[in-house]
Formats: sequence, C-alpha cells, structure tokens
Amino acid sequence: MEEIVSLAKRRGFVFQSSEIYGGINGFWDFGPVGVELRRKIKDFWWKRIVHDRDDVVGVDTSIIAHPETWKASGHIDCFSDPMVDCKQCKKRFRTDEITEKKCPACGGELTEARQFNLMFQTTVGASHDSGSIAYLRPETCQSIFTQFKNVLSTSRQKIPFGIAQIGKSFRNEITPRNFIFRSREFEQMELEFFIRPTKEEGKRWYEHWRNARLQWFYDMGVKKEKLRLREHSKDELAHYARACVDIEYEFPIGWSELEGIADRSNYDLTQHMKFSRKELSVFDDQLKEKYVPAVVECSVGVDRTFLTLLCDAFDKDVVGGEERIVLRLAPHMAPFQAAVFPLSNKLAEPALSLEHDLRQKFQTEYDDAGSIGKRYRRHDEIGTPFCITYDFQSEEDHQVTIRDRDTTKQERISIDQVKVWLKERLKN
Ligand code: ATP
Repeated sequence: MEEIVSLAKRRGFVFQSSEIYGGINGFWDFGPVGVELRRKIKDFWWKRIVHDRDDVVGVDTSIIAHPETWKASGHIDCFSDPMVDCKQCKKRFRTDEITEKKCPACGGELTEARQFNLMFQTTVGASHDSGSIAYLRPETCQSIFTQFKNVLSTSRQKIPFGIAQIGKSFRNEITPRNFIFRSREFEQMELEFFIRPTKEEGKRWYEHWRNARLQWFYDMGVKKEKLRLREHSKDELAHYARACVDIEYEFPIGWSELEGIADRSNYDLTQHMKFSRKELSVFDDQLKEKYVPAVVECSVGVDRTFLTLLCDAFDKDVVGGEERIVLRLAPHMAPFQAAVFPLSNKLAEPALSLEHDLRQKFQTEYDDAGSIGKRYRRHDEIGTPFCITYDFQSEEDHQVTIRDRDTTKQERISIDQVKVWLKERLKN
C-alpha cells in the first residue's frame, strides 16, 4: 500500500487535501492524472448502467436535502458507530478497534462507549436555530427515492426500471484510514432498480444485478481471482432487506467491501410515503394492481474502485536490466490512451501536430521532457498503454514507432494508420 500511495502522489493521482496546511484527515484531492482515471471510472459505470440499457435513467440531485429525508431513511436515528474517547490523550476510536480496555495509542483510560452519528451537520439560511439544521448526504440514493414520482412521470419508464446517480457523499468517519479506502468525503455511484414487490421479482433482479456488476469489474480488467462475492448472513441483514451481497476485492489490507448489492424490498419508498404523506405507489397497467415498488440497489464507491484499479494494475518487472513500476490498466481505463514523444526538439512541430490530431479522439499527452527512457518510465507508472515516438526517419517514411507498455515491444506504423490502430486496441 505504501508503494501505491507514494506512486499516487509522485505521479499526480492523489494528493493529501490542504497539504500545505498540514493536511486534513479523511479528505483527498485528485491531481491531473487521477482526475482522468476518476472520469474513466464514472463514464464506464454510466455507460454500462445508463447508456447501454433502455431501462435505466439518470438524475443529479442536491447534496443537501430536506432534513425529513434523513428521518425517513433512518439516518438521524441509526446512522452511527459506537465510539470511545481516551481520557488522557483525547484520541477517539471505534469500539470495534479496541481489543483491550485501554487506549491503543497511549494506554490511557477510556470513556464508556457512546453512539456517534456519522452525518455532517450544517445550517441553512441566516438563522442558526434547530430549524435550520441540515445534513450533507451520507449516501446519494435517498433523493432517488424522493424524486421517484417525478422521474416516473417525466421519463418513458415503467416498472421494472432503474434510476442511477453519481455524486459526492459525506460521512464523518471516526477513523478514516487506508488511504482513500475510507474517507470523509467520497463519491458514490448508485442504482436503485424499481421492481414489483414480490419475492420472485426480487430474486430475479438481485441475481441479474449481482452478475452484471461483477462483469463490470471484469470488463475494467480487474483480476477475477482478486474479486469475490460475500453473501450477508440473515443476522447481518437489515430487518427490511431480503438479501445482500458485497463484492469484495483483495486489497493489500485484505479482502474488503467494494460494492454492496441488496434486495431492499419496498422499505425505502414506504418510509418516504409515511413521512411525506405523499402517494408513492404505482398502478401497474398489466397487473391492474396498485403497489409500492421494491428495489434492488447497487452501491459502489468511485474512490474504492479507483484504489482497486491502482492496486490491481500495480506491477514491477525488469526492463533492460532495470526495475520499473508499471500500471497495467486496461487500455480503455488508463488516464491517457497514448503519449507522443518527439525524439529530438527539432521534431517538435510534426510530433505536436500528430498529438493534436489524436487528441480529437483519445486522451493523449505530448511529452518532450528528458530522455526517451525517462518518458517511458513516467508513462509506465501512470499506465499509458501506448507511447508513440516521432523520429528523424518519420520525416521520410511517414511512420512512427509505437511501444507497448506491457511487452515493451515496438512496432512501426504509418502515421495515417495510428488512429485506426489505437481504436482497435481500446475496445471494451
Ligand atoms: P463500510 O462498511 O466499509 O463502512 P458501508 O457498508 O457503510 O461501508 P455502504 O453504505 O454500503 O458502505 O456504501 C456503499 C459503498 O460506498 C461502499 O461499498 C463503498 O464503496 C463506498 N463507501 C462507503 N463509505 C465510504 C467511505 N467512508 N469512503 C470511501 N468509500 C465509501
């Protein structure tokens, strides 16, 4: 993990938030390379969940919602972790981190355990009374439920159909840790798939989404043997949930949750109906029946997926007698699909012109800094699958050398064929 954290900083994937002020625990900033990888993850999720299907639509809702939302969802009453404080050094721990009855940091005496609500509070408007309290959302899906009727009446969808959203969520985690695995501000990609509330429909769609979601990770090139499904036992399930499974990845910190998929029955819409006193049931034309739809939910973090890709792609090998770090990301997921190098500064003009041309179709970078070897090393470390060198011979034969990140093999390709060549290799 240390090597990954160091690479992430060195190459502009992830920086500590507010680093010049000493940082702020649980918050991270994404640099020029990292932001490209995040976009790739979000775009690929959106493609598979929304654009490739005719039964899912998207929304983008506000981070702050009416506080009743969080009463209805149970977050105000139940979204908490038990914690203890050290009376001596004032450090705070989740009770599940304590093995003995004393402070793990200084050995001091601990307070009794108490519940700590993980929602960030703020106030809305000029007055600061209890009526102005609002919360930063701890998950993105609640406003999918509260907007269910508006989406249903403005889209051409009928049950079964889904509503998807990507957005920031906030949790005041007691102990944020393991780099970006557990942070206080993170981004989620969530799908609520609305179905008839029968057990059979729940089972059918739960299985469908389990498979589809696992396939998504395979399609990003994540190693199959590093992914597994962990079905929740009956006593782990929330009282309303009919089934729940985690997709886990074997991180350097061990097997940990990456995504949760759950058959949540019709608990969520029922709760919002109760609290808002608005009708959220639907009339099913086919069944000639009114019901409150159930949902199968798929909820995955952008940041955990990001960390998964970094961990999964991270590799070392020896090239020309030297050890190199290489990120073997699937070409379509890499921050940059290709880099163009002029062999000499004298070749800047034609090399730049090639790079500008490729830029219209792919994410590319022009790199003329340092030796060719150094440029390869940088692009190996950020996962660029193809490096294209424009050399003196290119002036005569109108060909360039393309070097493959994984094999380091080089090929001469006619300049007018480069786009087609790249497109062929970026299919997903
Ligand atoms: P955990 O048990 O790890 O706290 P959770 O079961 O509370 O997670 P969910 O509420 O199911 O998580 O959230 C869905 C997804 O959102 C998680 O699978 C994870 O990818 C992501 N996620 C949740 N909390 C965080 C966090 N603090 N930092 C980064 N990602 C998170």
